[in-house]
Amino acid sequence: METITHNLVGIIIQILCFRFLIFPWNLIGTIFFAFISHIFVDGIAIITYHTPDAQKGDKFWLVWHYIIYGVSLLSIIIFIIPYWLGMIFANIIDIWDWLILRPIQKRIRKKNPESKWGEKYYLHRTVDWVRDKLFFWLPVRNYKKSGIMIEIFIIIALSIILGFLGPSLFIT
Ligand SMILES: [Zn+2]
Repeated sequence: METITHNLVGIIIQILCFRFLIFPWNLIGTIFFAFISHIFVDGIAIITYHTPDAQKGDKFWLVWHYIIYGVSLLSIIIFIIPYWLGMIFANIIDIWDWLILRPIQKRIRKKNPESKWGEKYYLHRTVDWVRDKLFFWLPVRNYKKSGIMIEIFIIIALSIILGFLGPSLFIT
């Protein structure tokens, strides 16, 4: 799913871990559960609008991504202090696959288009595995534009939960 969705889940996990666990388990719990959360959140992402490849010729795709990237960036700015740990680990699978592995693979393929280098290091393979085992019954809607409504609904629901938890925007 989108960064904003992972961010909100990571923040909620960090709040809960810091509320109910003592040091160092609050840190370990935040890292562990935020990391795991990405697998489950992405596992159900097929019910939302997620085309496997960028559709830069499609105006709808472009506008949606401008908005969702903007909101994602805003959530990082607002919550980075003190929720950077939960947010980083809720997104680390995307950071590794999209920002590190894919650019390296692209470079290698420029020289050798047949190269299979890196395929097995993609962490989203775990997501695919979990989806096949646990979420195979979900309807596949990743090309359906109305799928953005489901993600928007999830974002609003998470924001309400966050509101109830009362995030602290300062280190206490
Ligand atoms: Zn992901």
